[in-house]
Amino acid sequence: MADKNDDFGKWEGKSDILLKIYSILLDKFGPMNWWPAKSDFEVMIGAILTQNTSWKNVEKAINNLNVHNLLSFEAIYEIDLNSLKQHIKPSGYYNQKAIKIKEFINFTKREYNFSLELMKKEDVFIMREKLLRIFGIGEETADSILLYALKKPVFVIDAYTRRILERHNIIKGALKEKYENLQRLFMKNITPDEANIKVYNQYHALIVMAGKMFCKRTPLCDNCPLKELEEM
Ligand code: SF4
Repeated sequence: MADKNDDFGKWEGKSDILLKIYSILLDKFGPMNWWPAKSDFEVMIGAILTQNTSWKNVEKAINNLNVHNLLSFEAIYEIDLNSLKQHIKPSGYYNQKAIKIKEFINFTKREYNFSLELMKKEDVFIMREKLLRIFGIGEETADSILLYALKKPVFVIDAYTRRILERHNIIKGALKEKYENLQRLFMKNITPDEANIKVYNQYHALIVMAGKMFCKRTPLCDNCPLKELEEM
């Protein structure tokens, strides 16, 4: 994420096309109201579990945690690592993910005494830097936590975002562009303020939906709502 004083100039002038994409996808799929979770805590754990796996597998792992009353800071803090591994096994890469979750929970204890409220009050730039210093938390995971759990105006970039930007020639080389630059693109053109938190929330969810349904490795353009961009 660019810092407060960054010069966004290079990424200006794309708001029309970005808002057009948003509007087309919103018309097609309707409001998304992400993240699919019952609590902000569950969002944070889900953001780690979803790395390199399908959402179906995340749901199984979350369900295991839920039936064992483990969906709280305190419960995950207390449980031993090997037991945690067993509970989240369906999410894949469970040895690593259990360590990542433990590291994250230790961080929330150390820095915020398990207070979600204090985490939400933290400055977004400071919180992002702190999250990125935790083992196993990369940019997409950190930004998912910031946006969907902590309700901060931070745009999440994923592989589908890159693919759609590239295929519609909105940013040449988007597939290989730095994460922070693509994030700049959205955050320069759709102001990162309180009013746009909902737009950021839905926009990423809509992109994921379009990607899963249409913008696959082999694109299904004929039925995709974004096909109309080609005709503009
Ligand atoms: S499937 Fe085709 S029309 Fe749809 S977003 Fe991908 S490239 Fe665009």
